[in-house]
Amino acid sequence: MKTLIISDAVAQRIDQHVRATGQTVEQTLVTCLGLLECSTIEDDESRHFSRAYLQGILDSHIDLVCRYTPDTTLTYVNDAYCQFFGRQRSELLGKSFLIFAPEEDQRQLIFARIAELQAHSGPAARIVHGQTHDGNDVWIEWVDNGIVDSNNKLFEIQAVGRDITNLIRIQMRLIERENILSTIFHNIPIFMAQFDEQGRFEYVNKHWIDTLGWTVEEMRAHPDIMAEFYPDPEYRHEVLEYMLSLQPGWRDFKTRTRDGTLLDTSWANVRLSKGHTLGIGQVITQRKQLEDARVRAHQLELDIEKERELREIKDRFVSMVSHEFRTPLAAIRSSIDMIIHYFDRLTRERIIEKLNIVNQQVQRMNDLMEDVLRFSRLRSGKATIRLELVDVLPLCLRVVESFKLASEDHRPIEVTGEGGRILTDVGLLEHVLTNLISNAIKYSAASAPVYLTIERLVEHIQFQIRDSGIGIPQQDISHLFEPFYRASNAREIPGTGLGLSIVHDCVTQLGGVITVESSVGVGTTFTVTLPAGETPAS
Ligand code: ATP
Ligand code: MG
Repeated sequence: MKTLIISDAVAQRIDQHVRATGQTVEQTLVTCLGLLECSTIEDDESRHFSRAYLQGILDSHIDLVCRYTPDTTLTYVNDAYCQFFGRQRSELLGKSFLIFAPEEDQRQLIFARIAELQAHSGPAARIVHGQTHDGNDVWIEWVDNGIVDSNNKLFEIQAVGRDITNLIRIQMRLIERENILSTIFHNIPIFMAQFDEQGRFEYVNKHWIDTLGWTVEEMRAHPDIMAEFYPDPEYRHEVLEYMLSLQPGWRDFKTRTRDGTLLDTSWANVRLSKGHTLGIGQVITQRKQLEDARVRAHQLELDIEKERELREIKDRFVSMVSHEFRTPLAAIRSSIDMIIHYFDRLTRERIIEKLNIVNQQVQRMNDLMEDVLRFSRLRSGKATIRLELVDVLPLCLRVVESFKLASEDHRPIEVTGEGGRILTDVGLLEHVLTNLISNAIKYSAASAPVYLTIERLVEHIQFQIRDSGIGIPQQDISHLFEPFYRASNAREIPGTGLGLSIVHDCVTQLGGVITVESSVGVGTTFTVTLPAGETPAS
């Protein structure tokens, strides 16, 4: 860095010049060159302030600096100027710079500018578009200053030019981008509205005006424009909340247009800088119609599927009833026939025996009817559940005991595991366990043991009923809980196929799940997991 040492007198003169002309100090230095040439500085100490020194400063400057007389003859050019125009200084000094302004209109502008400086010498900026010596487009911002003599007559003009090509290019690109954005904003078939930080409308696009019917001025003048779009206060509140939340993504609302039409619309918010936001919306009537059609089609499919299932259940029900009622009815009929025909010949004991058979078969049919009714109550949601704290171990032992008392084969049923209390419906739980144990007994050999295990988990309790019976074929497992479904290997064993579907519904009512693992010829394990309803410690 060089230090310029100047005398107080010179510094004062420069200061005066800066103030009088509004030039920068650099521009003033150019003026000083002129002053030196005119030998108007008479100061001993001005020897430090040599012309060569100032020339050095100006030549090291990247701006283009030149001086010319009102007839456009160059009297001074700096290095940057020479380089820019690709000429030697000697080729330029004493020549008109109009060689760089070949067009008539360019020249007219130059002379108009010189005429202006003759009237008023103050600095003025102008942007000139031209080409470099190697043919590239450039924009130069020239700041012209008139230098006047003691008679206030313009005798020279000094110009400092700055290459602002990059700036102009950026500006042009910005303008171009703005044009594109504004073309999109106005022509896109999507509503767009820009809001200021107070949520007031700033702009709306054409599609907004064309579809919703309100201009930005009309909306700004309206005391509550949102009430026009969303008349229902609660709904309006929901929309406003969504707008303020600036959540990403789209949300569907029904928007009322100015003529009262209710449109299905979808809206998104975009956060802009300085608290501004952009609301974007689109009409989705078509999409909604498609969606509705899809929902209806899906519903129809579900209805058809349900109908098919119902038909299947009905078929299975009919075949179950015909089978399950025919057998006891046949037993009842034969017993009654026997009594009617051989009443005189039968002993009292034989008659009682026959009547007991009738009684058992009536009980069987009654149980079946009970099951059907229970199933129908559970399916229709009419079954009520009564929750109470239940000690599970005594309950399990009670269920197992009832089997031991009822069955003649004295089947070993082993109960293991922890007890504890759970909040549940005793009746439903008893029914679940009874059914699963009765299946385990029914589908295994007469002497094979059945296991009931209770396991206390953190928030659940798990019951496992395991047998080593005939097992269930894989293809039947997924249908087991369907009403009246019976596995292919169980056809010879009497049953309605209703027990497990009731069990499944009971478990669901109790908020639990039931699963099954089985292997043909090895055995079956049913696992019921129920919410405990209270912590193990309580
Ligand atoms: P019921 O309604 O009289 O109980 P069911 O026993 O046939 O008749 P579900 O209890 O619903 O009806 O059982 C459905 C089917 O699941 C049975 O028919 C049988 O094929 C199969 N199944 C159930 N439990 C077992 C088991 N422990 N071992 C083998 N198969 C089983
Ligand atoms: Mg059963």
